[in-house]
Amino acid sequence: MAKITLNNIAHSYDSNSGHALKPMSHEWHDGGAYALLGPSGCGKTTLLNIISGLLQPSEGQLLFDDVDVSTLPTEQRNIAQVFQFPVLYDTMTVAENLAFPLRNRRGPDKLSNTEIQQRVQQAITMLGLEAMANRKARGLSADDKQKISLGRGLVRTDVNAILFDEPLTVIDPHLKWQLRTQLKQIHRQFGHTMIYVTHDQTEALTFADKVVVMLAGEVLQTGTPQELFDSPQHTFVGKFIGSPGMNILPCELQGTQALIDAHRVTLAREYPSLTGVIELGIRPEFVYLDDSEQSLPVQITGVEDVGRHRIVRAMLGSHPLDIVVPEHQTIPTAPRVLFDNKRINIYQNSQLLGWEHPS
Ligand code: ATP
Repeated sequence: MAKITLNNIAHSYDSNSGHALKPMSHEWHDGGAYALLGPSGCGKTTLLNIISGLLQPSEGQLLFDDVDVSTLPTEQRNIAQVFQFPVLYDTMTVAENLAFPLRNRRGPDKLSNTEIQQRVQQAITMLGLEAMANRKARGLSADDKQKISLGRGLVRTDVNAILFDEPLTVIDPHLKWQLRTQLKQIHRQFGHTMIYVTHDQTEALTFADKVVVMLAGEVLQTGTPQELFDSPQHTFVGKFIGSPGMNILPCELQGTQALIDAHRVTLAREYPSLTGVIELGIRPEFVYLDDSEQSLPVQITGVEDVGRHRIVRAMLGSHPLDIVVPEHQTIPTAPRVLFDNKRINIYQNSQLLGWEHPS
């Protein structure tokens, strides 16, 4: 496994178009499980293809364990890849398909038949493929074929990294959860460096130790799921992560208070006077129905029951505000809300103003 360093990597597909990937420098540590998360067109696949060698970056260097691999072809990068759709040999059995990447190894890395059989058996057990090990791939369902593709990525232990490009797209929804959990367990057990591309936050947050949130060719934040929830560094990250995402409300700061239209919110600290666009971020989980003196009146526009709680869609003045309300709590006809001020983030021109949340 390898540490992966992106050293001022950038990419343009042609000289007339702008950057599909803007210059970026990051270090992804050896054995880490990373997810590249972002909306369609933000550059996830471009970045993954640069790492795998399918694409040469127009600027910068890519290093594996401090060795520059930027100009090496894919075969020499020692990378396993799992794509959206299964890539298998239909006429081979499941076990033969799994053995294939191992049989291809030459020179000092060549494995004996016994070693290959052991690895294949391990992959079969990891993914629960025992019942179909000797069946030809041709007749299998799309789900099973994709499981085998995952197995082909995981069977190799010599790789620098395993790259996954939206690997669960073809998987039946009820199996997705199971496979994500299995991948996570396999990561814990074997410590591969894994990079997983997805536009689905649930997939990213359940799979990865570190989620890399991208927008328009840029990395906005790399953080643990908890960091992305507590301290989104950019308003986009706040809104993109969470269900529903963070409320972002334009405001004016006056010392220890924020003014949202005519409503005053007391903050947990004093802010200096700031220029630019100032916004207050508060997650719907930290907005409470409350009728104390400091609470603010809201108008409800809708209520969604999502099982364990309800999502109340409301307006605070002219701004939409989402509130997560526990199942048992009654929603009053003239509701008022209070923000947990320890959970308020202040953004200047979309960037979080840095400070530690009081615990
Ligand atoms: P998706 O989730 O839809 O696959 P993505 O986040 O993986 O999106 P990329 O496929 O990396 O995004 O695309 C990033 C940008 O580069 C987009 O604006 C896209 O239109 C452009 N792009 C991607 N591939 C090419 C190409 N072969 N030629 C020209 N432009 C491209």
